[in-house]
Amino acid sequence: MSRAFNFSAGPATIPEEVLRQAAAEMLDWNGTGMSVMEMSHRSADYAPVIEGAAADLRELLGVPANYKILFLQGGALAENAIVPMNMMRGRASADYVDTGIWSTKSITEARRYGGVEIIASAKDSGYDRIPPLETWTPSRDAAYLHLCTNETIGGIEYQWTPDVRALYAGDVPLVADVSSHFLSRPLDVSRYGLVYGGAQKNVSMAGLTFVIVRDDLIGEAHPLCPSAFDYKVVADNDSMFNTPPTYAIYLAGLVFQWLKRRPAAIGRPELTPLEAIETLNVAKAKALYDALDASDFYSTRVVKQDRSRMNVTFFLPDEASTKRFVAESAAAGLKGLKGHRAVGGIRASIYNAMPIEGVHALIAFMRDFERANG
Ligand code: PMP
Repeated sequence: MSRAFNFSAGPATIPEEVLRQAAAEMLDWNGTGMSVMEMSHRSADYAPVIEGAAADLRELLGVPANYKILFLQGGALAENAIVPMNMMRGRASADYVDTGIWSTKSITEARRYGGVEIIASAKDSGYDRIPPLETWTPSRDAAYLHLCTNETIGGIEYQWTPDVRALYAGDVPLVADVSSHFLSRPLDVSRYGLVYGGAQKNVSMAGLTFVIVRDDLIGEAHPLCPSAFDYKVVADNDSMFNTPPTYAIYLAGLVFQWLKRRPAAIGRPELTPLEAIETLNVAKAKALYDALDASDFYSTRVVKQDRSRMNVTFFLPDEASTKRFVAESAAAGLKGLKGHRAVGGIRASIYNAMPIEGVHALIAFMRDFERANG
């Protein structure tokens, strides 16, 4: 067996240790004589799986006691509708910052449920940066402010969190789609009203959506919001109003345990798990961006201070060499490097589970390719 280095943006690479454990436990989990995916979600056997995953996530992020952790389905795109249905709370509109394709999708969907004010946009510069805070024009009476804090397609990431109390004279909850950099670095949940994302990048397999929401913000969902997506209903039922994605939650739990082992694994027991993984992510991103910056053959478009640590986007001189790069890298065991069809080029997604060896292999491949084609 040989495992490829998988640079896919999502569903994405999962730690090999986690896959091995899941494989070993597939037929008989914990002496139950069945796989986790065959168990009733209401059984005594399953209870510790979902409760353990929620507790470990709370511990990893230091989620304050007044926040609910919800496990849902539908992915981040469903949340684009579910968030306004829950968070408009009778107000007329919400503020959105437009940083690329994913925030544009959030905006388009939210417009079906209420007013949307785009208070800042990076569209005019081709989504190559986070619009500087001084250019934001917050509106009065916004129900919430929505950001996509890592744009998976463009490869731009907030390296800072806006201070909503300074931006608005009042408590306007900050809502963020954190799908593609969740758990890649520490996150101060208390600065947000709500964070959400699809699990299929840094958390688990596809099928699980996570929401972390401040409890005073729930309970005012739109009357037409499906009960299964009403955060209050889901919270009151401990994410078991209906059948949750049981196996994806189990796998997330294994990933959380893997994260908790990172400080010891890298010989830095003094770090928290998210500090440890951040250290690794910084090193991986730096190695790759340094290689790109040192080359005249490859180019990047994102301004340096807003570069994503998770999704590294870059370009070759022309379409023909891009196609060759994608084909030859795949043949060399470096999979999933083709850029999103909307922007072209190359995208290397280097999530938590991508080992540094994968990044080094990519850099070596890039050098060889440049030598042969440059
Ligand atoms: N937001 C972001 C930032 C994403 O990266 C993605 C998926 N790549 C989505 C939303 C959509 O997620 P899903 O396919 O789970 O609905």
